[in-house]
Amino acid sequence: MKYIVCEKPGEFILKEKEAPVRKAGEALLKINKVGICGTDLHAYSGNQAFFTYPRILGHELASEVLEIDENAKGIKAGDKVVVMPYVSCGECIACRNGKTNCCTNIRVLGVHADGGMQEQITVPANILLPANNLSNDQMAIVEPLAIGAHAIRRADIKAGETVVVVGCGPIGIGIMKLAQIAGAKVIALDMNEDRLKYAKESIGVDYVVNVSNDPVKQIEEITNGDLATAVFDASGNKFALEACPDYMSHGGRFVLVGLSKGELTYTHPKVHAKEMTLMCSRNATTEDFEHVISVLDQFPTESFITHSVPFTEMIANFDSWLKPETGVIKATVNFN
Ligand SMILES: [Zn+2]
Ligand SMILES: [Zn+2]
Repeated sequence: MKYIVCEKPGEFILKEKEAPVRKAGEALLKINKVGICGTDLHAYSGNQAFFTYPRILGHELASEVLEIDENAKGIKAGDKVVVMPYVSCGECIACRNGKTNCCTNIRVLGVHADGGMQEQITVPANILLPANNLSNDQMAIVEPLAIGAHAIRRADIKAGETVVVVGCGPIGIGIMKLAQIAGAKVIALDMNEDRLKYAKESIGVDYVVNVSNDPVKQIEEITNGDLATAVFDASGNKFALEACPDYMSHGGRFVLVGLSKGELTYTHPKVHAKEMTLMCSRNATTEDFEHVISVLDQFPTESFITHSVPFTEMIANFDSWLKPETGVIKATVNFN
């Protein structure tokens, strides 16, 4: 079978190998579609911390079961399944407390273990979710949306709140739509007008604010001086992250979803006066995946997937997906 491996930063190779053989407790899957994520782009660029090469990338998977043992979820051969690509240990303190998303021994497919850029893969059967009612496109975007769903659940967003989401990339877009589905009003922030236009027109966010144009004042105007009761950062940009508490109301929450590399600085009296709750949101759990699957028909999958190419053309196209000027939100690779 064919597979694409990232040999080292900047180099993909299309290769052939024997199809994997399933062990007990595992499922053998046929991959139909793979979404390309920021993680994959960073791994290819060589600026992904803790990454080892060679690695088969890909963790946003639309797949179909070829072989599986009998299981509690009733998943059988021929079923379409979404893969929750985080393999947790089940034993550490986080797992014992139900926070498998931040397991101390977490292994993410396509990051710490080989992922789905291959025609077939074996994975633990317990990370599969039945998805017979979803299209391949929908299945491939469940994982990035689940990241957003987890952040929304962390912040316990309630109907009627006004939230700010910083960054209109795929993760930010997911948070925006899921916040709206939870009943919140959404203010989208970005510096790129095209992305703000997409958030407004295709996602239907309530307000867009360009950060280069006095965002605090604009958010104050929109909220009658209250500011946002929750602020999500999906940019991972140090300067954006440091500005976020300024968008947040007194008594508000600040949720860090995007990951920056170094230190962040906040002036204590300023954030103390607001009694800021700061929380990080990492990966997602089964519950978040199930929530996304249950509301996916409200999400504009077609406009979200901006680029789609056959598996054999991925290598030639990958460089272009690193460039924001190509208008890429979500690129996907098709196996059939
Ligand atoms: Zn992803
Ligand atoms: Zn664990």
